[in-house]
Amino acid sequence: MAHNRTAPNHAGQDHAGQNRTGPALEAMDVSGRLSRLQARLSELGCSGLLVTKLVNIEYLTGFTGSAGLLLVASDEALLLTDGRYRDQSATEVAKARSPVRIEIARAVAQLDVLDAAARGLGKLGLEADAVTWGAMRRLSAKLSGNPELVPVRHAVEALRAVKDPGELARIERAADLADVALAQVKELLATSPTERELALALEVEMRGRGADGISFETIVASGPNSALPHGRPTERRIEPGDLVVVDFGAEVGGYRSDMTRTLCVGEPATEELRNVLEAVLGAQRAGVRALRAGVSGGEVDAVCRSFLEQAGLADAFTHGTGHGVGLEIHEAPSLGAGSADILEEGSVVTVEPGAYLMSRGGARIEDTLVVTAAGARPLTKSTKDSTC
Ligand code: ZN
Ligand code: ZN
Repeated sequence: MAHNRTAPNHAGQDHAGQNRTGPALEAMDVSGRLSRLQARLSELGCSGLLVTKLVNIEYLTGFTGSAGLLLVASDEALLLTDGRYRDQSATEVAKARSPVRIEIARAVAQLDVLDAAARGLGKLGLEADAVTWGAMRRLSAKLSGNPELVPVRHAVEALRAVKDPGELARIERAADLADVALAQVKELLATSPTERELALALEVEMRGRGADGISFETIVASGPNSALPHGRPTERRIEPGDLVVVDFGAEVGGYRSDMTRTLCVGEPATEELRNVLEAVLGAQRAGVRALRAGVSGGEVDAVCRSFLEQAGLADAFTHGTGHGVGLEIHEAPSLGAGSADILEEGSVVTVEPGAYLMSRGGARIEDTLVVTAAGARPLTKSTKDSTC
């Protein structure tokens, strides 16, 4: 399911693992990522790749600035950014032990540096899903055929799909913070808070306990609003008998967690809603059981979908079963209907079936999990019991 991603929040973040609170996190192997990409260049049909998607630059070099270009050739890598990031880029790249060379130049002059560095590469890959029309025109004009520009898809995203132990440690801490925050604010529900008050309380708990930010805009959708998979928190007061869909996550060191629980003060108001809740819980458990390395995202989706179909809720499940989570809240692999993405050991994904009945209510339950050869290792550990 798509979420509204919040602005990147990297202030106070330390890629060596010194989160503001809590014990140090395991280091990440950033330099190994660059060499894995370099080893794949010929398979990708190019002798160099121009990385322009900022989150991919961050992944490959540790640099978290808001402007930059990364040229990756088989034996070297060049990071281009502007004067605002002179110190930050040097510090972050050194901390990540990335072997990348940095050049500082104004945006216009960067094209000249790139032209000189890329000349003779033969074929230069561009990230086909990230490069804008305008950037493509400027590059084509500057490089004028040497090297030839070729489209490359998902080169860095494919590497990002499998997490190293340092990445897993950050996502696990983010998931723990979300679990603790939910346990802390649950009792507020009995006091009829507004959706906004509940969302804010969750965010304050996560930030107060050491999260660097929130994963995405927190969703709290209660009563009839819970039928909106994407409900933004409103001034509606949560009442006993409402289903309350709470979908949120924390961010630690750039990495995100994602979880949903559907809560209810007392019993759901109608039998119909009770059945929806029960069916979604069954579908989610079945989806988690189906998760393991080697199966496709589409297979896990089909398990959840057929469970809800048998409960008469096929049409009420209006989104995909899940998605990869990491530096971005939605990344590879996809667990949507028909997805051929094969789940690999070390991927972090969500399983989040839901069912929504217009203007009556809905439910969704979501965990963040690590894919292993034997099955799923849950990072989200909150109870799935709705009562509070
Ligand atoms: Zn979510
Ligand atoms: Zn999600």
